[in-house]
Amino acid sequence: MPLTDILDRITAEEVRTNRAPGTTHLIAVSKVQPLERVVAVLEEGHRIFGENKVQEAMGKWPALRERFAGVELHLIGPLQTNKARQAMQLFDAIHTLDRRKLARTIARLAEETGHCPDLFIQVNTGTEPQKAGILPADADAFIAECRELGLKIKGLMCIPPIEEEPSLHFALLAKIAARNDLPELSMGMSSDFERAIAQGATYVRVGSAIFGERDYS
Ligand SMILES: *Cc1c(COP(=O)(O)O)cnc(C)c1O
Repeated sequence: MPLTDILDRITAEEVRTNRAPGTTHLIAVSKVQPLERVVAVLEEGHRIFGENKVQEAMGKWPALRERFAGVELHLIGPLQTNKARQAMQLFDAIHTLDRRKLARTIARLAEETGHCPDLFIQVNTGTEPQKAGILPADADAFIAECRELGLKIKGLMCIPPIEEEPSLHFALLAKIAARNDLPELSMGMSSDFERAIAQGATYVRVGSAIFGERDYS
């Protein structure tokens, strides 16, 4: 689907749900996509992109940033502590702060370098054993702990269980964010970004609907 169609659908949903137009940011998720598709979206003027692997992003974005000014890069996949330094240099935002050890590492590196990307805490809203993220019951305490470490948390992120109605998970994330005074919500993907906007998403992460299916072969 052309980028403009996705942007139109985002605006339409903002209008339909009485959100101010332009309050939802589109992260174009470019992981695994062929370079020419990514370049095409950059040439259309889009500048906010998401990647889920530090290594993969390191391989393509430094060169793309030389060609296209103003790129904003978001890490939306799990982050190992031994890659935190690299990630903090490359990414403008990290959506997957999901454990104490990572929070401590990021805090230490931020102090050392004087620089820290925008931080989102990933919440495992479905309490799925195989999924990363802070459990909803532990979220308030973890947010407080991050703040004590000196980290400025921007918002929360979630990936709902595939087989459940995502709106319930988006609403839960919004509730946790509201009671902790966190302004940003990273939620909604190709199949459900409109429902995420209806629940207050400020960042939607859309891959295949923009670029086409990912070919992992
Ligand atoms: C891949 C990915 C997306 C985009 O998924 P699509 O279904 O292609 O839109 C969004 N969020 C995360 C965390 C992802 O890993």
